[in-house]
Amino acid sequence: MTSSLWLHLGSNSYRVERQDPGAGLVCWRLFKLMEDEDEKVDYIVRQAWDGACACDCPAFVFRQTGAGRPCKHITALREHGLLDNPAPELPPAVETIPALEPIP
Ligand SMILES: [Zn+2]
Repeated sequence: MTSSLWLHLGSNSYRVERQDPGAGLVCWRLFKLMEDEDEKVDYIVRQAWDGACACDCPAFVFRQTGAGRPCKHITALREHGLLDNPAPELPPAVETIPALEPIP
């Protein structure tokens, strides 16, 4: 028996395949359904052991140079439980500076 997993994002549809994660923990490949069957577009989404996600779509690559927000592919895969949600942000560490000893 064969089965397939589809993700529908707005007017776009993607066939989703799990890939060998390689260096990451989780890796998905999204094959975009194109009207022209000869045109192939696919994106690879990886999640590293620390929960950080990356996609090779133009939107993610562009945003990484700016705010570093996830693309729609990462957001959708997370919504459907195919990627772990990011760990809640911890409050920034308070750096304590030890008090100086008075000079005798
Ligand atoms: Zn993407």
